[in-house]
Amino acid sequence: MQFKSKYIVPIGADGIHVLNTGDWRTQRPVMNYDKCIKCGMCFLYCPVNSINKINGKFVISYDYCKGCGICAHECPKKAIDMVPEEGK
Ligand code: SF4
Ligand code: SF4
Repeated sequence: MQFKSKYIVPIGADGIHVLNTGDWRTQRPVMNYDKCIKCGMCFLYCPVNSINKINGKFVISYDYCKGCGICAHECPKKAIDMVPEEGK
């Protein structure tokens, strides 16, 4: 069996399935890098580990981001905007 990603979630009697939890999202967090001070609070608070530090920048993975808005709420510089997901 080949997985599409490193995230697997056990569900049901027939084994494990990959869930792209980003499919559930109705709001999308968008980083404003002009305001970001790279404190890492968004990274620490994201409940599904959808924020990673890449080349010194905190970057959101939209495959798994559920759009909960916790990162935007916890950001001390208000550098993350929650915007409606297109088509939802
Ligand atoms: S919490 Fe805000 S300021 Fe801190 S790294 Fe995340 S986006 Fe940047
Ligand atoms: S909206 Fe929620 S799931 Fe998405 S990156 Fe922010 S804290 Fe993580």
